[in-house]
Amino acid sequence: MTSQLIDGFGRVHRDLRISVTDRCNFRCTYCMPQEGMKWQPREDLLTFEEIERVATILVQRFGIKAIRLTGGEPTVRANLAVLVAKLAALNVDLAMTTNGVTLPLLAPSLRQAGLRRINISLDSLQPDRFHEITRRDELTRVLEGIHSAVQAGFAPVKINVVVIKGFNDDEIVDFAHFGREFGVVVRFIEFMPLDADEDWSNDKVLTQAEILAELSHTFELQPLDRTSAPASRWRYADGGGEIGVVASVSQSFCDSCDRVRITADGQFRNCLFATEETDVRALLRQAASDDEIAAALQRSVSAKWAGHSINKVHFIRPVRSMSEIGG
Ligand code: SAM
Ligand code: SF4
Repeated sequence: MTSQLIDGFGRVHRDLRISVTDRCNFRCTYCMPQEGMKWQPREDLLTFEEIERVATILVQRFGIKAIRLTGGEPTVRANLAVLVAKLAALNVDLAMTTNGVTLPLLAPSLRQAGLRRINISLDSLQPDRFHEITRRDELTRVLEGIHSAVQAGFAPVKINVVVIKGFNDDEIVDFAHFGREFGVVVRFIEFMPLDADEDWSNDKVLTQAEILAELSHTFELQPLDRTSAPASRWRYADGGGEIGVVASVSQSFCDSCDRVRITADGQFRNCLFATEETDVRALLRQAASDDEIAAALQRSVSAKWAGHSINKVHFIRPVRSMSEIGG
């Protein structure tokens, strides 16, 4: 390692999120429109070799320690295990965020290829509501996917629940029971203004404080130290496991952010809410040297802003929605 990816505020970046596709087999209301989503042409997506090259530069030159694969839905990218094996060889903490629906088929092969951790998104345990959110009738299959991930040896398996006030906030305690029963870590995520339909408003955000208040009627919770992950964590006092809350809106964790992202079409983003990107795909395809690519990545991180401004008048919503950035 020759240097670190440090921004102007002294934050060292060690966590890389790679979106491997913008396509998805679900259409979650808070993420994608039902119809009319324009997919990137296939030739615009980075190849596995291109992803491997950028990831190698980031790991070997800048000490990136964790890589998380995302999308769109990462498992719709053909032969994903081949990419997993390439990235696993970099010896990083390799994880994936998925809607879980293909895990009954893929969990064992991904595990064997070297994937270490899995986060599965699930926003309702009620079939009708699950359908209303995802516009797909696949709750049973996702639950099977969670089971397959646990069986394949992923530990911990984390369940991401986006909470929308007045919609699924009555399931918080149900999810806590689910996590305790199935030995998975449930993480509640505050709804962020990155939905394709631009339907977000502040009054739809159930805040971390409200989530904890709801849980504390039923469970005694004790705070745990924060890791580099974005979630604040608590353990159940009775030893029933832990839960987390990702409070991106009410308690932004920008001060300690160590994340950078690459979109499926090869654009490097220094923030989830960035309005500017660095075109790594162009550099790769113009035969730029590793030094030139590394310099462009460092320049991007140097220009990172202090933090997002959700709820402030000067907040500018990124043009891309969550499904195009990857979360
Ligand atoms: N398809 C995969 C999945 O659903 O897990 C990976 C991509 S998805 C964009 C990554 C994460 O972003 C998921 O946990 C999803 O729930 C979350 N997400 C999507 N839109 C969101 C929004 N508007 N606010 C908060 N989280 C969101
Ligand atoms: Fe697809 Fe994930 Fe977005 Fe749902 S949250 S539409 S599964 S990318």
